[in-house]
Amino acid sequence: MNKTEELEKLNKEMLSCSKCELRKTCNQVVPGEGSADARIVFIGEGPGKKEDETGKPFVGAAGKFLDEMLSIIKLKREDIYIANMVKCRPPSNRDPLPKEKDICWAWLEKQINLIKPDLIITLGRHSLEKFLPGQRISEVHGKALRREFSKSSKQDSLPDEQIFYVLYHPAAALYNGSMREVLIKDFKRIPKVLELINPKLSQKNN
Ligand code: SF4
Repeated sequence: MNKTEELEKLNKEMLSCSKCELRKTCNQVVPGEGSADARIVFIGEGPGKKEDETGKPFVGAAGKFLDEMLSIIKLKREDIYIANMVKCRPPSNRDPLPKEKDICWAWLEKQINLIKPDLIITLGRHSLEKFLPGQRISEVHGKALRREFSKSSKQDSLPDEQIFYVLYHPAAALYNGSMREVLIKDFKRIPKVLELINPKLSQKNN
């Protein structure tokens, strides 16, 4: 089985998950979307109303804004992978509970381990808290951070070392002009970060 087939299989298994309470109130599981060979995985918070209706991540107004920003850096949805911390919509768009995020983590962890991206981009504070605990989004947005997992402290099966890039959530910037400018500015730095991680691959993709 190749990577694409493995990811499809995993996402199909996810569709029948009912490990937490969120599945009782949502319409469907929203596993994620994009390329299994993506160099970048974007991770948001959880599906909203539109995502719950369509089964696709980031399809509402925030998703449209995300697409606009991707086109600025000459990327399309097919070039990246995008998923959420929880795969089912929390009722009334409330924040996912820590317990729900913990239970759902196993799915995201498997997706990341299959894709093995060069860069994980956190969108908003929920994914930032999981991957880079203790960091404040106002201080680290627009920055690339390398996290090393020592063998003794490692609690999950992520690679020993992973590079993260921190962004505000597109939904937070939708109706806030200055935040929108900050997010676009941070977004424009992504190609440079990718180039620093692997210059050869970046040249090949251009
Ligand atoms: S949120 Fe995650 S763990 Fe909970 S039911 Fe949906 S897929 Fe399963």
